[in-house]
Amino acid sequence: MVSEFKNEPYTDFSTPENQRKMQVALKSISNQLGEEYDLVIGSQRVKTVEKFSSYNPSERGQVVGVFQKGTPKEAEAAVQKAYQTFETWRRVQPTERAGYLFRAAEVMRRRRLELDAWMILEEGKNWLEADADVAEAIDFLEFYGREMLRLAGDQPLTRIPTEKSELVYIPLGVGVVIPPWNFPLAILVGMTSAAFVAGNTVVLKPSSDSPTMGAKFMEILEEIGLPPGVVNFLTGSGASVGDTLVGHAKTRFISFTGSKEVGLGIVELAAKTAPGQIWIKRVVAEMGGKDAIIVDHETDLEKAAQGVIASAFGFQGQKCSACSRAIVVAQVYDQLLDLLREKAQAITVGPVIHQENYMGPVINQRAMESILDYIEIGKKEGRLVCGGGPAVGNGFFIQPTIIADVDSRARISQEEIFGPVLAVIKVRDFDHALEIANDSEYGLTGAVYSDNRDKIEKAKRVFHCGNLYINRKCTGALVGVHPFGGFNMSGTDSKAGGRDYLLLYTQAKSISEFVG
Ligand code: NAD
Repeated sequence: MVSEFKNEPYTDFSTPENQRKMQVALKSISNQLGEEYDLVIGSQRVKTVEKFSSYNPSERGQVVGVFQKGTPKEAEAAVQKAYQTFETWRRVQPTERAGYLFRAAEVMRRRRLELDAWMILEEGKNWLEADADVAEAIDFLEFYGREMLRLAGDQPLTRIPTEKSELVYIPLGVGVVIPPWNFPLAILVGMTSAAFVAGNTVVLKPSSDSPTMGAKFMEILEEIGLPPGVVNFLTGSGASVGDTLVGHAKTRFISFTGSKEVGLGIVELAAKTAPGQIWIKRVVAEMGGKDAIIVDHETDLEKAAQGVIASAFGFQGQKCSACSRAIVVAQVYDQLLDLLREKAQAITVGPVIHQENYMGPVINQRAMESILDYIEIGKKEGRLVCGGGPAVGNGFFIQPTIIADVDSRARISQEEIFGPVLAVIKVRDFDHALEIANDSEYGLTGAVYSDNRDKIEKAKRVFHCGNLYINRKCTGALVGVHPFGGFNMSGTDSKAGGRDYLLLYTQAKSISEFVG
């Protein structure tokens, strides 16, 4: 009997003992920086002529790992291997498949601080954010393992006397899994494990900004003895291998999380039928956000300001759920702005190897330039309240930036910036706030701070976002507690970490036997 699902607790870094252990983990992986990782296709380790490196964004030029630059040739081989392996893997019992997930979760618990350390270096996540990411990866494994057991059980059907009926969930086939870099373990593990626990085989193409985290997951899958070919690991540029993977006749589904632009391209390509293809490809695409927090005048402004700051600047604003629009009722607008300024200016920015830095770097040079461009646009579209440029240091550091008096139709109110930039919009009243909150092509997360029950109920009905939070921040969804995924251009309306999710990786077969 498997125990009830529970979220994995976070490591308490306030204790000197855990601080020391984390320092040891960081030191011990520093000897492994720059190691080379291979592609994994079936039981083969594959090297390519061209390589690329992943870097520590806190320390320009420091190589974290060296990776193979897969080409369409290796992409083809990976899909073929996954297709072959599907014939055996699909027949493995669901209980056995779920067992692999539970064992992988155990290994992650044992390697917890080491995984945290890799993420701190490769991603620029602070200690707490990195640890929460690993905890979420463990949660996905534990949750989807249990979900597979549930789906493998008897399904409720209407009975008729003359027939014995059953409904079974069978896998789809080869899945291409394309995660983003910003939850480099949690999302990668969640998408991959959901796919293979359901009986599918996978070609996993990690982001080129976080391939080490993918390689560490592959090490774990090897350690637990997952049969070769169930998950194949293909690093390389999305642009060069993406079309081969997505367009392949043997690809049955694509599970993507990333930007709207890439997601829409995948949806379009997957809709074209390749010669020899005998199914309609399924696409699960989770995309961007332009998430808003509404602050009403009937609320504790101190708590609201804390929630906005944590949502806007946690992990440097590089979360799809990050608050990038604070929509504030005129009566308390100036007061809230003062609180936001004060709190943003108190944020420490710097290399996240040091526990005291709350904000680390943004992911790379391109992101830094794009965010700084948006800040310049914002300075014209509104009034700079604080921040407004790079922060000191040898990494891609940007000051937490707040721009006030922004129009709802301004570019910084509409376009996903994916960095530490908050637009503050003044509104007449609560109804106006809801109207502005919904004035977006996205619909991922949102939050409302108000003590007025009628307004809360109205927000629950009207605020069109996949994850709505009341009187708390709009980031930090927990597996099982807050099934996660957005509306409109935020994606295909799936809910990661929820009870509907595994269905996306299966098809239901209805079987009835005449019994007289
Ligand atoms: P991205 O779209 O640039 O890349 C995502 C993945 O797609 C990467 O692995 C990349 O290599 C790959 N890719 C790039 N071009 C491709 C192509 N032509 N074909 C196939 N694959 C290709 O996104 P990113 O910068 O890695 O991640 C940030 C984005 O992800 C933000 O927009 C954020 O909001 C979104 N996101 C959404 C969610 C969600 O649950 N909705 C969660 C996390 C991140």
